[in-house]
Amino acid sequence: MKCALVGNQNSGKTTMFNLLTGLNQTVGNWPGVTIERKEGTIKGSDITLVDLPGIYSLSPYTAEEEVSRKFVLEEKPDLIINIIDATSIERSLYLTTQLLELNAKVVIALNMADIMQARGVFIDVDKLSKLLHTTVVKVSALKKTGIDALIKTIESGEVMENNHQPIYPLSIEECLSSIGEHYADHSLSRFELVKIFERDEAFRIMDDDFVEKRIAEKEAEFGMDAEQLIASLRYDFIAEIKKGAVEVKKPKVTLTDKIDGVVLNRFLAIPIFILIMGLVYFLSVGVIGQLTSDLLDGFFNGMEEFTIFGKAYPLSFIGVGPYFASLILNSGGSSWAASLVKDGVVSGVGAVINFVPQLFVMFICLSLLETSGYMSRIAFFLDRVFKKFGLSGKSLIPFIVGSGCSVPGIMTARTVENEDERKMTILLTPFIPCSAKLPIIALFAGSFFGQYAWLVTLSLYLLAVLVILFSAVLIKKVRKSSSDSSFISELPEYHAPSFRYVSRDVWDRTSAFLKRAGTEILIASVIVWMLTSFTWDWKYIDGSNLTVESSLIAGIGNAFSWAFYPMLGGHFSWAAAVSALQGLIAKEQVISSMDVIAGISGGGKDIFASPIFSFFDGWSAYAYMVFNLFSAPCVAAIGAMRAEFGSRKMTLKAILYQISFAWVLSTLIGLIGWGVR
Ligand code: GDP
Ligand code: MG
Repeated sequence: MKCALVGNQNSGKTTMFNLLTGLNQTVGNWPGVTIERKEGTIKGSDITLVDLPGIYSLSPYTAEEEVSRKFVLEEKPDLIINIIDATSIERSLYLTTQLLELNAKVVIALNMADIMQARGVFIDVDKLSKLLHTTVVKVSALKKTGIDALIKTIESGEVMENNHQPIYPLSIEECLSSIGEHYADHSLSRFELVKIFERDEAFRIMDDDFVEKRIAEKEAEFGMDAEQLIASLRYDFIAEIKKGAVEVKKPKVTLTDKIDGVVLNRFLAIPIFILIMGLVYFLSVGVIGQLTSDLLDGFFNGMEEFTIFGKAYPLSFIGVGPYFASLILNSGGSSWAASLVKDGVVSGVGAVINFVPQLFVMFICLSLLETSGYMSRIAFFLDRVFKKFGLSGKSLIPFIVGSGCSVPGIMTARTVENEDERKMTILLTPFIPCSAKLPIIALFAGSFFGQYAWLVTLSLYLLAVLVILFSAVLIKKVRKSSSDSSFISELPEYHAPSFRYVSRDVWDRTSAFLKRAGTEILIASVIVWMLTSFTWDWKYIDGSNLTVESSLIAGIGNAFSWAFYPMLGGHFSWAAAVSALQGLIAKEQVISSMDVIAGISGGGKDIFASPIFSFFDGWSAYAYMVFNLFSAPCVAAIGAMRAEFGSRKMTLKAILYQISFAWVLSTLIGLIGWGVR
């Protein structure tokens, strides 16, 4: 015995198929098309089950419809299991009215029974069965209810006979009968008669004036063409059924609905989302950043006064670095040892720790947004938009998590079900400025854009969104992927954020950041200090007769500085080049490196006062930030990409794309700046 699962897309066919067949399935393609064909045996029986592609009608408008139509008409399954999404009964029944006209047994599996009530849909199954003249079984493929009853019906084959059931007005029914009599020796099915009436080429028997005259008469009588007429009459019949067996109540308005009414409003959702994110960055980078970064910098490197919101207060502190340096010098230590501690260790690590308070606040805000349910609901809202770009609404979660760190972000991309969308999400997540990139933004934005720093920060996040969308479109075009995937269907309600979850989450993220500062950043800073403090013939650069220009690092940087020449507005800077390269180790290392280099070259505690970095202006600062933000992520994230892609080649391609894209974009910005100047 052979059964076929027929139904709309996302009605639950595949879920049902997997449930009924378990592991007894083979996957192949339908002949001539790349549409998946799944066939299996129902558990504990010898009934063959075929999962047909999702269709909305038996008209051959799409390849899927063609495949399904061919199968039901030519292979004639013994039983058609018509899966219906009970929550969108009207759309589903259109196909059902066509299936019921075939000379075939049809059983209706009324799926999604578990969420019917919640959606305010109440269906009288017995009545529905009477009105349709076929057997109806209420099931939930997801919650596995009603399955036994369905299997029993399938096995026994006791399905109400349903064909020849008139559903059209008498005048049309008579016309169909007269066509049937005219072609009496063809013994046509009701479905074929209707198709002939619709003038479907595939069913035409011959050019026939008799038939054509009948059709034209009815078209004149109802004032529309035959195909339209049948469709409209099918909907009339469905409306009757709805009246008789379906009751749709507006579900109770819950608090979630009320909140959604505002934050997921068609016009307000995106502005509100941007506003909320803007507020998060204003609070963290703007307020907390301004309050703390000078203070922490002073703590590590020394200060004479403390500036807050443009006002200076006298506050003198020698600073941890200078303190230990003088301790070493006073106890007879060499000047390079003092410099190692002050310029290498304390300055490099301090430059990163500096940003902990603002990150801390940002982590709290993001965590609150996540646990309250807002993030997944906005993901749902964005699903339709994201789909257009080859992404899923669920991609928003990796992106948001990625704003903390790309590594867990890339890993949460697993929740995206569709393979193409998942790969795209992995590729694009590193474009989101992670917390390690934030110090770069904070340093440059703070130094060159003053009180507008938070706005510049927001602009970079918006730019990140544009880069992501642009890349998605570009890659989708190149890869020509066209698999359809289902929309998000289940969502958590809003609830009060849990203190435990938020504190755990914030602690995890902050401690991970601090741990990196204490390990990778510490080691890298010492290496940079070494490369900056010694010449090729291993002489210590004490700043008197040897300068940093003859250091090891200057040599390395010079080899790459041409690539940064246009984006820096026409400056060869080995220091900017090596600092950016170190972003591959860890993005925080970019500013640590700049800090160490500036310190040794004698710039004092302001990086941009040092002659090595004094060429930076607003434009080149922005361009340099853009390069560091969008070029390949750090090694840890590259490792995560490799693991999640499961392909070295794809990882390599992704990194190459990221680097070239970042370079082109930042070079463009740099060149504009160069021209403006
Ligand atoms: P297909 O396109 O017809 O093969 O549909 P799928 O089997 O892929 O299901 C589409 C979506 O509906 C998936 O997210 C399923 O988890 C979900 N789904 C399927 N059956 C049910 C059900 O009975 N209840 C609920 N709530 N969701 C379901
Ligand atoms: Mg499917």
